[in-house]
Amino acid sequence: MTRIAREDLYDTIVVGGGNTALLTALKAHEVGGKVLILEKAPKELRGGNGYFTTGLYRIVHNGIEDIMRLTSNITEEEKNLQIKPYTADQFFTDYTVATEGLVDPEMMELIIENSTAAVEWMATDQGIEMEFGAGTTVRLGDTLVHVGSLAIQSKGGGAGLSDAIYGRIEETPAIELLYETAAVRLLVDDTGKVYGVTAKQKGRIQDIKAKSVVLACGGFESNPAWRARYLGKDWDMCKVRGTRFNMGDGLKMAMDIGAQPFGNWSGCHAIFIDSESPQPALLEDGESTSKRIYVMGLVVNAEGKRFVDEGEDTIDLTYARYGQHALKQPGRIAFQIFDKLGHERIQKFPVQDYLGGTYVQCDTIEELAEELAVDPEALKKTVDEYNAAIKPGGKLPYHHLLGEKEDLQADGIKPPKSGNAFPLDTPPFYAFPVCCGITFTFGGLKVNRRGQVIDTADEPIPGLYAAGEIIGGLFYNNYMGATGLTAGAVFARITGENAIKDCQ
Ligand SMILES: Cc1cc2nc3c(=O)[nH]c(=O)nc-3n(C[C@H](O)[C@H](O)[C@H](O)COP(=O)(O)OP(=O)(O)OC[C@H]3O[C@@H](n4cnc5c(N)ncnc54)[C@H](O)[C@@H]3O)c2cc1C
Repeated sequence: MTRIAREDLYDTIVVGGGNTALLTALKAHEVGGKVLILEKAPKELRGGNGYFTTGLYRIVHNGIEDIMRLTSNITEEEKNLQIKPYTADQFFTDYTVATEGLVDPEMMELIIENSTAAVEWMATDQGIEMEFGAGTTVRLGDTLVHVGSLAIQSKGGGAGLSDAIYGRIEETPAIELLYETAAVRLLVDDTGKVYGVTAKQKGRIQDIKAKSVVLACGGFESNPAWRARYLGKDWDMCKVRGTRFNMGDGLKMAMDIGAQPFGNWSGCHAIFIDSESPQPALLEDGESTSKRIYVMGLVVNAEGKRFVDEGEDTIDLTYARYGQHALKQPGRIAFQIFDKLGHERIQKFPVQDYLGGTYVQCDTIEELAEELAVDPEALKKTVDEYNAAIKPGGKLPYHHLLGEKEDLQADGIKPPKSGNAFPLDTPPFYAFPVCCGITFTFGGLKVNRRGQVIDTADEPIPGLYAAGEIIGGLFYNNYMGATGLTAGAVFARITGENAIKDCQ
């Protein structure tokens, strides 16, 4: 029978073919390990969720000098940008607020402390080009304004990131990589030590031995049965934004040998996406099905009623929480509505979510309602009540960046719109149908600072490590934009090193 793998004994087997797995393999190789990577996807669908991203990394930095050191493409104009330093304290505060103080403090500290070094290692030691995140700026007349903490992006976004890391792997013959090969079971000896995996490749099954195994094979967002089981009713009916291969295999394999489930197993990252998004998600669509700039308009359901505070906070603090609300609406659908001025505002926005996709345009709210099969009177009532409730005050997440003088809120209606409450009264009107798109799940395995998987008796499982989105305790109830890739890179470096050094 044909063998699946080349060697009889690897130093480590890395399970997964996403950004975390590949960086783990590069680190393990850097410290002298003989490495095998198993990617369940075929070559043309490789790269995990990382491939679908815009490649944004949240890191601690001291402003433009740091950004210039890490990146390759800063223009003369951008060099003069006022980029506020993003301090460790600010990262800590944002992370704590976003996760309602529930994030595992040890994990958070590790991510924040190592964020810059991890991206610097990728850029300088591994030659994975980073760029200034030009998508995080807005042009106001002749002036370029930076809008937030996310200033670093992989060249070519997620696709560029994936191609660059796979390029590094392919030019390193000492790292072996098998596509269409899933790990299905962990091998454990009678001392409880993990000594390899059972792998499955197109129907062939083989035990492959290694001194350690690193699970970097994501969560369970692509598995409808597990979504219904852990996230609850209707979650089997949502769409999946990223890879179709993250079915919870690594979680199951680890828990089967006593690994401790940890974190927010009923929670996930889910956003509003174009309701016509194809399933499974297409690699070439990347992020383009996202619909995140609801903050500039209203979101209504098929009964013409609002159900979220569209201006509650900045997009990066609400977008990952709001997708789930679409799942609970009649028909599991919602509509994001803008008037002419709102539509102009979203075009100014750095994230170009609304330039394509599915939408309806009409001259009156009633016509818009008819096109959407929503009761025209109900929608008109919602819009009229909203316009009548607008008054000065509220939050300023984006107003000033778009050159608006005064912030507005709509108060006294349910739910309120706490910021960016621009009137919705100037035709034409636009409606974007959206549904819930899951990005990834929050529940995972408990690991320690060395990346070792912890068992249900709170002891490390010898020979077993985990990195990336399979780790639990990183996010609770909410997520902070651009933390996933950073966490993946940080844990890849830690785990790749320890999986080799601990097991010599
Ligand atoms: C549309 C979208 C946009 C995003 N944008 C951003 C962003 O800009 N910035 C950011 O920080 N984060 C972003 N994220 C989140 C980010 O993608 C994840 O945080 C990150 O990719 C997690 O990396 P990972 O390597 O742990 O998992 P993944 O990238 O999901 O990789 C998991 C891998 O495991 C493989 N696998 C699964 N089961 C097995 C098995 N049994 N055997 C072998 N292999 C297996 C899969 O094929 C896959 O290759 C986005 C996610 C999506 C979907």
